[in-house]
Formats: sequence, structure tokens, C-alpha cells
Amino acid sequence: MKNIPEINHCSPNPEAWWCSQCKAHTTFQYTTLPDRDSRGNPEVTVLHNCGACNFTMFRAAESISHRKIGGGLGVLMILAGVVLSIVEDNEFQSSSILGICFTASGIFFASFILMSVYLRKWSSWSSTQKSRSEESLQDEALEHPFQPEYVNNRAFTKWAEQFLSSEEVEQLHEKYGGEG
Ligand SMILES: [Zn+2]
Repeated sequence: MKNIPEINHCSPNPEAWWCSQCKAHTTFQYTTLPDRDSRGNPEVTVLHNCGACNFTMFRAAESISHRKIGGGLGVLMILAGVVLSIVEDNEFQSSSILGICFTASGIFFASFILMSVYLRKWSSWSSTQKSRSEESLQDEALEHPFQPEYVNNRAFTKWAEQFLSSEEVEQLHEKYGGEG
């Protein structure tokens, strides 16, 4: 808040990228990786790394839905494995079906657990922050070891757009980047 008083990076926002090491919505660098979705269509995975400590960041809202999907698919795979192995008469086939389904469910449950670990840090931080007053959040933001600084690049714009409307971000650029 020292450099950018418009944005409080210590005020919780589940839609914004968050660093669990810095416990703040720090600014970030992002890397895009070419990827494929489950149907094999090309898409882009975007990794966000904290601008202060380089740790991988996450968004609570997104992780909550990933966790639901992971847990749901894990249960589904166990059910499918059990049903299919009962239906299949061939004993060898039925045990290999069971093996495949249980392995898949293991992977889904692992992602469920990983998301839960991430989200536990988020929930404890966000509930503490929510119980505090606007002033005390501002004080914390001012004393936070990491202070966002204005940079005229895409990553900064993307960071600011998480908290402000596009017009307000435009105004930020005029205010801080005007001299350039
Ligand atoms: Zn960090």
C-alpha cells in the first residue's frame, strides 16, 4: 500500500492469485505453457509465481472447484472399478480393471489432498483477515515486508485488474506511468 495505495494486497480476495509463503496477494511473474485439455484440444496453462519469493501462487476460488472435481472423480473411479470388476466374468480382466480404477482414484484423491493443504492455509488467513477492521488491514499492508511497485508491463496490469476495474487500472497507468 506504500507505493500503490489503491490496492491492499493483505485484503483477502478468493479470485486473486495468492502466495501462501508471503500471505498476501503479491505481484507476480507468469509463465505460459502449451498444454492439452482432457479431449486433446490445445490450451494454455498459466503458472503464476510470487514476485517476492517466487513461490507458486493459487486462487482459492479455482482451487475449491478443482478440489471438488478431484474428490468427485476419486469416488466415481472407485465405484466404477467395483461395478466393472463385478460385471466382468474373466477374473484376470476384472482384477486389472480394478487396478486401473484404483490407481486413477488414487491420483484424484492426491490432488484433492494437495488442494486441501493449499486451501487450509488460505482459509485460516482469510478468516483472520475478514475479522479485522479496514484500518488494521491497511496497517498490516503498510508493514508487510513486500510492497507492490508500479511496473509498466502485462503482469502488473493483470495483477491490478484483479482488484480494480479496467478504467481504474487505466488511471493507475496514467498516475504512475505518466512520466515515462
Ligand atoms: Zn511469496
